[in-house]
Amino acid sequence: MKPMINVAIDGPVGAGKSTIARECAKRLGYIYVDTGALYRAVGLFCRRNNIEIAQENAAEIEKAINSGLSLEIKLENGTQLVFMNGENVSEEIRLPEISMAASAVSAIGCVRKFLLSTQRRVAEENNVIMDGRDIGTVILPDAQVKIFITAKPEIRAKRRYDELIAKGIDAKFEDVLNDLNTRDYNDSHRAEAPLKQAEDAILLDTSEFDFEQSVRAVINLIEKGQ
Ligand code: C5P
Repeated sequence: MKPMINVAIDGPVGAGKSTIARECAKRLGYIYVDTGALYRAVGLFCRRNNIEIAQENAAEIEKAINSGLSLEIKLENGTQLVFMNGENVSEEIRLPEISMAASAVSAIGCVRKFLLSTQRRVAEENNVIMDGRDIGTVILPDAQVKIFITAKPEIRAKRRYDELIAKGIDAKFEDVLNDLNTRDYNDSHRAEAPLKQAEDAILLDTSEFDFEQSVRAVINLIEKGQ
C-alpha cells in the first residue's frame, strides 16, 4: 500500500497552526487533525470528574482515563469534532479554563501515552496535516514534511483574543497574553515530549504574514517536501 502523506505542524499557542493547517488540508484534500483538542477533552474529563490535575495524582488520572474515557474524532464537512464518551464536546473544550486544564494534563506521561495511538492511527490511514506540540518530534517522526510555525507573542495573543471575542467569549487581552506565555513555558519545559522544533523541521515565522500568505507558504513547503 502506498504510504500516506503525513505533514507535521508544531508551534506555540496562537501561532495560527490550526486555522492555517485546516485551510491547507481543505485545498489539498487531506484530513486535518487538531491534536490539542484531544488534550482539551482529557482536561475537560478531569474537571468534570473532580480529578486533581497534578503529577502526584498521575496514578488516579491513569486509572480514570483507562477505565472511563473514550475519545473519538469525527469529521463533519471538513471540521473536526471531538466526542467524549459519545458526547460532542467540540465547543466546550474551547473555553479558556479548559486551555489551562489541557496544558496541565499534557505534562502527565500516561495522558500522552493514552492519546498516542489515536493520533498515529489516523495518520497511518489518511493523508493528514496534523498539528500540535510534539507531532514532528514524537508522534510522526517519519512525517514527509515538518513545519514549526511561530510568531511574536503579542501578535499571537492578539489573534487568540480576536478569536475569543468573535465567538462571544468574554476575555481581556492581558489575560490572554499571560495564559499564552504560561502555557508556552509549561509546554516547552515539561519532561514529557516538550514543545520544540524537530531537527528536520522548517521554521516558519508568520508575524508579518496575513492568513493567505501563511497558507501559501505552508502549501509551498508541503509541495516541495513530499
Ligand atoms: O493547540 P491547543 O492550544 O488547543 O492545545 C491545548 C494544550 O494541549 C496545549 O497548551 C498543550 O499543552 C497541549 N498539547 C500538547 N501536545 C499536542 C497538542 C496540544 O501537549 N500535540
